[in-house]
Amino acid sequence: MAAMEEVKKLLGRDFDSDELIMYAMEAALEKIKKSKFKQTDRPKSPPLAKVNKSRVISAHVKREIFRRDKKCTNCGSIHELNYDHRQPFSLGGTSGIENIRLLCFQCNQRARIKMKL
Ligand SMILES: [Zn+2]
Repeated sequence: MAAMEEVKKLLGRDFDSDELIMYAMEAALEKIKKSKFKQTDRPKSPPLAKVNKSRVISAHVKREIFRRDKKCTNCGSIHELNYDHRQPFSLGGTSGIENIRLLCFQCNQRARIKMKL
């Protein structure tokens, strides 16, 4: 009822039940689309196609990786951490979450030598 009074104030007039139903249905539709189909005007992650074609690791992926790994995935160090492509981009690796990990500088260098890059 408080919401109804607020709507009346915003409209600057009274409204009938048909109008009330219309507004309620529009609001419900919007809410259902957002929760069920994840529709939003501002998506938080880039389209997958973009992730797979660029060597650059997106902010979204970096956030997720840091939240997941927090430290070097090889030795556990928290110093000089780098984002590393498990499968090198030059060998077809993507910049998606599944192919990126945190490695410290030392482990990153060792991984490069091992991969002969
Ligand atoms: Zn390390």
